Amino acid sequence: MPPLFPALTEAPADHPALRFGERSLTYAQLAAAAGAFTGRIGGATRVAVWATPTMETAVAVVAALLAGVPAVPLNPKSGEKELGHILSDSAPGLVLTAPDDQLPAPLQHLPRVDVDVHGTGPVPEDRAADADPALIVYTSGTTGPPKGAVIPRRAIASTLDALADAWQWTGDDVLVHGLPLFHVHGLVLGTLGPLRRGGSVRHLGRFSTQGVARELNSGATMLFGVPTMYHRIAEAVTSDPELVKALTGARLLVSGSAALPVHDHGRIATATGRRVIERYGMTETLMNTSVRADGEARPGTVGVPLPGVELRLVEEDGSEVTAYDGETVGEIQVRGPNLFTEYLNRPDATAAAFTADGWFRTGDMAVRDPDGYVRIVGRKATDLIKSGGYKIGAGEIENALLEHPGVREAAVTGEPDADLGERIVAWIVPADLQSPPSLEELADHVAGRLSPHKRPRVVHHLDALPRNDMGKIMKRALPHG
Ligand code: ATP
Ligand code: MG
Repeated sequence: MPPLFPALTEAPADHPALRFGERSLTYAQLAAAAGAFTGRIGGATRVAVWATPTMETAVAVVAALLAGVPAVPLNPKSGEKELGHILSDSAPGLVLTAPDDQLPAPLQHLPRVDVDVHGTGPVPEDRAADADPALIVYTSGTTGPPKGAVIPRRAIASTLDALADAWQWTGDDVLVHGLPLFHVHGLVLGTLGPLRRGGSVRHLGRFSTQGVARELNSGATMLFGVPTMYHRIAEAVTSDPELVKALTGARLLVSGSAALPVHDHGRIATATGRRVIERYGMTETLMNTSVRADGEARPGTVGVPLPGVELRLVEEDGSEVTAYDGETVGEIQVRGPNLFTEYLNRPDATAAAFTADGWFRTGDMAVRDPDGYVRIVGRKATDLIKSGGYKIGAGEIENALLEHPGVREAAVTGEPDADLGERIVAWIVPADLQSPPSLEELADHVAGRLSPHKRPRVVHHLDALPRNDMGKIMKRALPHG
C-alpha cells in the first residue's frame, strides 16, 4: 500500500504540520521525531497511547502507524474501571506517554515509553498492508460499555481520501482543532486527516470560542467540531464580532459525532451567513456521509454517501427502503473500504453487527430526501419512540423543543404507556430554572410545529443533561431513562 503520509517525505521541509499551544513541528521535524521513535516500539504487538491533547500523542500515533504496530488511544479522563477493562481487553505491550504524564494505577504495571517530540531518526519505510490493523479505537460508550473497533489501514486511507474529495480538502488547508484525540473524530479526521493531505493542524488544547476566532482570523481555513462546540459558538456570535469575522472568512465549518441542533445551525447562519456542514460517521465505519463543500448544507441532514461508501436503509422486516420521500424510516446499513474489521475479542458482537452479505448495521435510523440527502432520525435503541401506532424520532422533537425560548437543552425518550404503547417524555434544562416552561406550553409548542401526536406527555426538569466527553447526550444515564 502506498504510504499513509506521503507529505512526511515530500512536503517542503519547513511546511508546518502540527501545532499544539506554543509548540509546533514542521513535516521534516515530525518525520524525524516519528522516525526516532519507531525503533522503540517496533517489537511490540500493540501499543497504548495515553491520548492527552498534546504533540506527544500525535507523534506517538504517527510513529505507531509507520511502524505497523496497532495503537490503542486511551482517554485520560476514563475512570479506573473503564481503563482496566480497555487494558485487559486490548493487552498492549507498552504505553506511550508525554514525559510529564502521571499515569493512574491500572497503567502502572505497563512499560512506559516517553515520546520525545524533538527526536531525530530516519523515516522508516512504510510496509504495512492495507488490511493490517492500524488503530483499535473504543466506541464512545453512549449506549453501553465501549467496544474496541479494530480499524485497518485501508479504512483510514479511504475515509480521508473520500473526505478530501467531498470537502475539496488540500495541503493548503489549516485546521483548527479543539477535540480530544482518543476518538476517530479528533484523531483520524482532525489529526491524521491534515497530515495525509500535507496540510496543518493547530490544536487549541482546550476548546474556546476565542481560540477558534483567533486561529481562523490568522490563517486557519477549517474547523471541525462537535455540536456542543457549535452550541457555544451559536451563543457567542451575538456578542463577539471577532468570532463572526472568523466564521465568515472560514473555508469550511464541519460538525459531527452527534446531531447538530437545527436551532444552532440557524443561529450561526443568521449571524455569519455561513452554514455548518454535517457529516455522519462512527468508530466502526469512520465516515459514511457528508454534505459536500459545494453542496447545500440543509439543516438536519448529513448529506450524501461519500465516494466508495454504499449505503442503504432497511426496514424491520429486512426489506430495503426504496422511497426517497423524506418519510420512510429504515436502519442505515453501510458497506465499503471505510469499515472496521471486527470488535476486539467480541466475535458475538461482530457477527451480530454484519448481515450475511457484509453490510454493517449501524443502529442509526434515517430517511432519505428526494435528492438523496440522508436525514438521521436517531438511534434504533434509544431514539425511536413507538407511540399510538406511529414511529417517532426523538431528534425532531428535540429540535422543536430547542426552539422554545424557555429551553436550553433537551432530550426526548419514550416510556411504556398502557394506552399509547410508549409515551413521549421530554427532559429539559430550562433557560431559567426559576420559571421553567410548563408541560402544556411545551406540548402546544411541539404540536404546533410538528403534529399533535409528537407532543410530549411528560416533562422533567434537570440542571444539566448527562453527557460523555464528546458532549453526547447519554440517554441511558437519565434518571429513569
Ligand atoms: P457506543 O457505540 O459505545 O454506544 P457511540 O455510538 O456514541 O457509542 P461513536 O462511534 O463515537 O460511539 O459514535 C457514532 C454514533 O454517533 C453514530 O452511530 C450516530 O448515532 C452518532 N452520530 C455521528 N455523527 C452524527 C451526525 N452528524 N448526526 C447524528 N448522529 C451522529
Ligand atoms: Mg455506537
